[in-house]
Amino acid sequence: MEILIAQHAGFCEGVERAYRIALQQTQAGKPVFMLGNLVHNSQVVEKFIKAGAKIVNSLDEIPKGSNGILLISAHGVPPVIYERAKGLELEIVDTTCPWVKKAQKIAKELADAGCLVIIVGDKGHKEVQGLVGWSNGKAIVVENLDDINPLSFSPNQKVGVLAQTTQSREHFKAMAAELKKKAPSLKEFDTICGATAKRQETAAELAKKVDLMLVIGDKMSANTKRLTELCQQTGTKTHQIQTVGEMMVGWLDGKQRVGITAGASTPEWVIKEVVAKLA
Ligand code: SF4
Repeated sequence: MEILIAQHAGFCEGVERAYRIALQQTQAGKPVFMLGNLVHNSQVVEKFIKAGAKIVNSLDEIPKGSNGILLISAHGVPPVIYERAKGLELEIVDTTCPWVKKAQKIAKELADAGCLVIIVGDKGHKEVQGLVGWSNGKAIVVENLDDINPLSFSPNQKVGVLAQTTQSREHFKAMAAELKKKAPSLKEFDTICGATAKRQETAAELAKKVDLMLVIGDKMSANTKRLTELCQQTGTKTHQIQTVGEMMVGWLDGKQRVGITAGASTPEWVIKEVVAKLA
């Protein structure tokens, strides 16, 4: 059996950067608080917890006067979090990915210019919630056509659309085209990150060449979910797994070529474990 790994798989530049910065902070001798998961990968998060970092779901969980460090995740946060953290006298270490920062900047500029901001993305995702905050809290989030169909805009309404950085480009373009029918002067900003586009392209290319695809990544990871969908769309049998323990021997029955890809927050050691088990 042949095992092929997609050219762009595993940690992206944004996650790599967040991981490196966060690991340095755990050695700074101060309490380190992570607001939610630093990245959407439970193995990576466990590593930080072992190194002494504490996960909090809200700033209210951080004791006043802790003199601690607040780690902002790669997905970014709304502006209100920075203001509140200053009030708690926390040192902010911001690992927001530069691609997400760029999307936040566009959202803010559009909202400040009186534009209605529409975000194509997953409604519950942290990055999207952050982008809504940067749109002065007034953005509309659309996931699919069902969300777009009920929308209507007045002729004078300025409307701008941008994407959660990990959306598929094809989906974003399709959603933007639908919105344009309702708002002809729509301003379109493709804020999908380069790493995501490359990962998706190489995953789909590989899926077409193999008879089984394994997509490795956390169930919470939006970009991993997207990779799985894209691989499935090629018609090749695809399974998404989080750890090597989820693999089933029966999946390999009659398969000659197995392809592997992994989400942007999947560390290399997890990919290696899967390859070793397959081999
Ligand atoms: S997937 Fe893209 S936007 Fe998200 S952290 Fe990685 S490089 Fe940044």
